[in-house]
Amino acid sequence: MKLYIVSNRLPVKISGQKGEFTLSRSEGGLTTGLDSLQTPYEKHWIGWPGMCIQENEDKNKVTAKLESMNLHPVFLSESQIENYYEGYSNSTIWPLCHYFFVYTLYKSCFWQSYQEVNLLFCKKISELIQPGDKVWIQDYQLMLLPGMLRKRYSNLSIGYFHHIPFPSYELFRILPERAEILKGLLGADFIAFHTHDYMRHFISTVERVLHINFKLNEVQLGDRVIRVEALPMGINYNLYHDAPSKPEVRQAIDRTRKLFGNHKVILSVDRLDYSKGILHRLRGFASFLEHYPQYHERVTLAMVIVPSRDHVGSYTELKTKIDEEIGSINGHYSTIDWTPVCYFYHGFSFEELSAMYYMADIALVTPLRDGMNLVAKEYVASKCGNPGVLILSEMAGAAVEMTDALLINPNDTEQIVQAISKALEMPISEQQERLQRMQAIISAQTVNKWATDFMRGWDESFYKNEKLR
Ligand code: UDP
Repeated sequence: MKLYIVSNRLPVKISGQKGEFTLSRSEGGLTTGLDSLQTPYEKHWIGWPGMCIQENEDKNKVTAKLESMNLHPVFLSESQIENYYEGYSNSTIWPLCHYFFVYTLYKSCFWQSYQEVNLLFCKKISELIQPGDKVWIQDYQLMLLPGMLRKRYSNLSIGYFHHIPFPSYELFRILPERAEILKGLLGADFIAFHTHDYMRHFISTVERVLHINFKLNEVQLGDRVIRVEALPMGINYNLYHDAPSKPEVRQAIDRTRKLFGNHKVILSVDRLDYSKGILHRLRGFASFLEHYPQYHERVTLAMVIVPSRDHVGSYTELKTKIDEEIGSINGHYSTIDWTPVCYFYHGFSFEELSAMYYMADIALVTPLRDGMNLVAKEYVASKCGNPGVLILSEMAGAAVEMTDALLINPNDTEQIVQAISKALEMPISEQQERLQRMQAIISAQTVNKWATDFMRGWDESFYKNEKLR
């Protein structure tokens, strides 16, 4: 029996061109979590390999290589990437689910392509599955897929996890295709979200849009009961906690220490995204410098921004504004000995990132909305013995578990300023106590535990359905 994990992207790095391709598995949080999942099922993955490949001969070569790794590609064209991925997924659903409805674009070519690609995934799964297999669908790019599969296979066990926020009914109702999307999701037996709030929003949206009533977290549709749950995703805790004792990470810590000297370091790490509140953070830091001149030449903001979705207009504009804001802060406050914002517009290796987490005095995490935010958890996990303070937006899913962070509303610049000042002055003993309490929580709720809990809840709801039939 097989467990098919289905996501927009396969966990693979592909490089090379015509004729010759090199493939290696990429280790995202989800991949490590699912790889370490103990299950009697053989694990397979279905998704886009991350490159538009035109020639059939090349597709066959890549498919053969991937299949030897239990990975199954769904090939997408450039137009599908533009309309399904950058379009409906990242310019319609993403802004809407993050409460940025002014950025939401509605184009019929986006919706057409979203349906077309969900159907491509459905066909790929149909070629592969056998009776007794399970299909676990990941995230907002594939919300129609559970319904498409359900139409073909009434007994197939289907799970769905939504990795981003699910907004309130008042937001979701704006979407012209709201009913189709919700019906698509209800094709699954088990649907889970990071937080109880997202789950409640989903239930009330289904009730109001489709006029279907839930009993607590379950609803009966025909001969099927669908169960909805809140399961916060965690990280591979030991990987981060053990990292600072590794020689490569120690070397990176030494290099990072040299770079920042004896300055206090405030760390900020995100993908380029308007939901991350990067401009709010920069304004907060600028205001801190204005009101606390005693910290000039003593504090540096290390800002890591990983390029992302740079074909989408709103992201290009954001990048320009961030560059301007950093230029303005550095232009105003820099001295011969000090540059207040140390800006990196590229990704860091695991070793470099772990070193930054370990040595940073403060992590400043200020999303305006974030499904979970793993950076906050990785920062806390990496602090094996070293002090540090997490400043975290209450709009991040992670804030539900990380109550020992200094929680702030990112729209309130004054709160960001106060939190930076409080963090810089916090006694080491209090920093350690707060970190230890958060570490106790996130070391218990790991990504492996998340995947195991999902499988358990999903099995329970599937077997309940078997009894009904
Ligand atoms: N990350 C990375 N390299 C970097 C910066 C970040 O691999 O240079 C990773 C980070 O370790 C984290 C992920 O990117 O696991 C970001 O996850 P998060 O949930 O914080 O935000 P998302 O990008 O999923 O919205």
